[in-house]
Amino acid sequence: MSEKNIVLLLGANLGDKEETLRNAVIEINEGVGEVVSISHFYETAAWGKEDQPSYYNQVLVCKSSLDPQNLLKTTQNIEQKLGRVRKEKWGARIIDVDILFIEREKISEENLKVPHPFIQERRFTLEPLKEILPHFVHPVLNQTLSDLLLNCKDPLPVKKLSMK
Ligand code: ATP
Ligand code: CA
Ligand code: CA
Repeated sequence: MSEKNIVLLLGANLGDKEETLRNAVIEINEGVGEVVSISHFYETAAWGKEDQPSYYNQVLVCKSSLDPQNLLKTTQNIEQKLGRVRKEKWGARIIDVDILFIEREKISEENLKVPHPFIQERRFTLEPLKEILPHFVHPVLNQTLSDLLLNCKDPLPVKKLSMK
């Protein structure tokens, strides 16, 4: 089966965030597909529910032959394996893996929306995306990720860290 470029966002805000992100990348490389590009870590204030510890976020591109539903299942299994417990929406979590893009596909299923619907509203997503894919054109909004970042009104600060 043919491989596709998948763009994932990782987020961690409980426990050893650096260690968790590194473990997530190892699991993704093994279970989803070869990781071919990866951003630095970004430290961001929590979005949506702001009374919780800051996040580390990271974006990566991997090559995967999983179909979209299996991709979602596999990333959710990785979240479970790394210790995520589902509580309230946007609450603190050890690890979150969101599917941002699957090539230029558009998917609107009950449990899976691709591109991820909040990309353009979240500086913590756009900053690492722009680092590795500045010229990628959002398939629904038809703007580059650089332009989406320039137009983003999200006031929450995002700090690029020196590690990846
Ligand atoms: P947000 O999606 O706003 O970042 P969240 O990551 O906190 O919120 P979760 O609790 O991790 O939300 O996921 C809720 C549900 O979102 C999942 O069970 C999954 O079915 C659904 N979902 C829809 N589209 C996507 C996507 N592109 N990537 C990951 N999950 C998605
Ligand atoms: Ca998320
Ligand atoms: Ca999620």
